[in-house]
Amino acid sequence: MTSLQLSAKEEMVERLLDAAARGDLNQVSSLLAQVPSLTNQTGYSGWTALMLAARNGHHHVVEKLLSLGCDKFSVNSSSQTAYDIAKFWGHRHIAGLLSRADAECQRILPSNGLGPQENYFSRETLDRLSGKRTDKLWLEAKRSDPDTVYLLFANLSPMVTQEDDAEKGETKLCRLRYEEVKDLLQKPSTVLIFIGMERTKSPSCQTEDGAPEPPVWFAINTDEDAAELLKRCRETNCSFPKTPNRDLLKLGEEEAGVVAQARSVLAWHNRYSFCPTCGSGTRLEEGGYKRSCLNSDCRSLKGVHNTCYPRVDPVVIMLVIHPDGNQCLLGRKKIFPAGLFSCLAGFVEPGETIEDAVRREVEEESGVKVGPVQYVSCQPWPMPSNLMIGCLAVAVSTDIKVDENEIEEARWFPRQQVIDSLFRGASPAFTVPPRQTIAHQLIRHWIGMNSNL
Ligand code: ZN
Ligand code: MG
Repeated sequence: MTSLQLSAKEEMVERLLDAAARGDLNQVSSLLAQVPSLTNQTGYSGWTALMLAARNGHHHVVEKLLSLGCDKFSVNSSSQTAYDIAKFWGHRHIAGLLSRADAECQRILPSNGLGPQENYFSRETLDRLSGKRTDKLWLEAKRSDPDTVYLLFANLSPMVTQEDDAEKGETKLCRLRYEEVKDLLQKPSTVLIFIGMERTKSPSCQTEDGAPEPPVWFAINTDEDAAELLKRCRETNCSFPKTPNRDLLKLGEEEAGVVAQARSVLAWHNRYSFCPTCGSGTRLEEGGYKRSCLNSDCRSLKGVHNTCYPRVDPVVIMLVIHPDGNQCLLGRKKIFPAGLFSCLAGFVEPGETIEDAVRREVEEESGVKVGPVQYVSCQPWPMPSNLMIGCLAVAVSTDIKVDENEIEEARWFPRQQVIDSLFRGASPAFTVPPRQTIAHQLIRHWIGMNSNL
């Protein structure tokens, strides 16, 4: 195809990819300022601007692209992320930007590899400012501040808007203002939580005297009629997604991080209205991070009790590797879409270590015995409040006998079949979960450990 046949947009994409590959920061910035929707466009073999900048070691371009919301999870046709590419070509400082490894930490806590790749839902977009949760006056002033951002949840589903650009169709959180929600704040059934303050982009303005504080964010959950609630927003194409398990995965990384925090805390309020110790009513405190019993004789008011604080449920999720090192164990539940296989997983029990939970769950679900267990990375999963603890584990037995109450089938998959599935080749033998899940990332991690990509 000659350049004459390229559409205007394709030509812009070509220019962006070329500028990113050359490390031309000015041109990358100006092209994206003109057409922000170019950010995640791909060229030859599915390479994005981020991948090209990572390939050629252009740190400032990578930094810029990340700040503009470039999707670092996307993969090229060789199934490589920008992180994989930077790591492969030895650009450690860029791989560090794309993971969460921080140089100082690497010095103090050296590890053989780089830090884990960041998982979806784990971005700390806002500064939680936990110290401000007890500052009632400050919180009250912020509630009616015209700059304050409100996220509105109806039955734990956040109000989102769908971008017009159908080809990308990214989902974004609707940001409401005080005026649009102030009547809801008066209703007794409304739950309001403080989620944090925006981080200042340029560190210099933090020190300026009298500089205004960045906006803070609150989240509201209400059981008001969803259709009526949608009328409050100035955006078009607003909705409350019906299947959070699937729909929340369409948010950008920044907003996914906010939702992980807000939805989990709101879900806790939704399920724990009464005091678990004495059954009395409770009062919401500390910006929504505590519920205190209204019965002054209650034991929960004396000392520290975990019943008063939002809960997090630890889940181990593990990729079990065959003793031959060349196969991995994946299973499927009856509710999975046809052909989908994933890592085994299960809740950690009281008084149990992560390693023992891995061994117990794998043996219960598949009959396979596990020896060494290695932690890889973790992921908050706000459905409603799990912390997925991702591990690799090495099997010491190979016979499979599934617990049919939990899973339908478990199988050893050869490495090449797993690679074909990640590649989404012509007809993979099975499918793996989407890239936003830690199961997907664990599988990639194992493949990446022993291959040259
Ligand atoms: Zn009580
Ligand atoms: Mg289980």
